Amino acid sequence: MRSPALSLLAAAAMLAPGAARGASTDSAALAAQEARLAAIAYRLTTGSAHWCPDTVPQPGWLLSDARRFDQRDRASAAATYGTTGDGPFIAALAPDTPAARAGLVRGATIAAINGQPVPTLGTGPTMRIDAIVVMLDALEPTAAMTVTDGAGAVHPIDPTAGCASSFRIERSGPQAAANGKLVRLTLGLARSIADDQEMAAVVAHELAHNILRHRERLADDRSIDRVRQTELEADRLSVWLMADAGYDPAAAIRFWNRHKKPLVRAASHPPRKERIAAIDAEIAAMRTARAADPAARPLELRGAFLF
Ligand SMILES: [Zn+2]
Repeated sequence: MRSPALSLLAAAAMLAPGAARGASTDSAALAAQEARLAAIAYRLTTGSAHWCPDTVPQPGWLLSDARRFDQRDRASAAATYGTTGDGPFIAALAPDTPAARAGLVRGATIAAINGQPVPTLGTGPTMRIDAIVVMLDALEPTAAMTVTDGAGAVHPIDPTAGCASSFRIERSGPQAAANGKLVRLTLGLARSIADDQEMAAVVAHELAHNILRHRERLADDRSIDRVRQTELEADRLSVWLMADAGYDPAAAIRFWNRHKKPLVRAASHPPRKERIAAIDAEIAAMRTARAADPAARPLELRGAFLF
């Protein structure tokens, strides 16, 4: 049995790191999950671009901004990311992507795209990131472009076309959400998913909501039946997105078998077992269809859902 003094020392040792550097621990944890999400998002948006009515240049980065952090946490966050100066910066860079090949690095600030300065219209925490997304959306998806970093260096980029969505890890809010343009996961949810394939399954479901324009379609009817229908549609399309991006679609089943609590506590969302059964059935249907035609894409997914 340990002496009370030793137990106290052990307890103090366990508490000390969090207490002493809570903010920097937080930004390091955030950066680690952003790195995973950057790689998954790039692979999903570019690997399944043929499912998307709108494609945009996907450089392979996740962006952040000092303004996303409390004033007192900004210095430690800047140290975590290796960013200097004031401006939106690259929080994560997936390996072997257009931005990485162009020599951009984590922490680089983005001052201009194609010589156009990133506008600073307001002081909101993500306004400069959103401005960059708008600038990219206006470009041809595979047209050569340049990024000017905070030091004035100009990086030519040959972007890859990918589905029109951007991605973010948040420290609060709903565990996973999609608003038509942006896919968000909380830090807590991301940290609870150790397996990248399972994280990709969650991201693919949210990306499917954006591809299927569910936010728009629910604008005039948020009835329980309608919401349940969009959830099942997103689960079904996510199976195909996963497969076409080279992931195992059954990772969604593994996620739901392990993650027993619903991501959204709402009667409108299908029960876990119903979702698992629907995903299982879709995987079987996909295997049958692709055995006959390796490029098969069912009309009710491409047609009724998408257009
Ligand atoms: Zn959903």
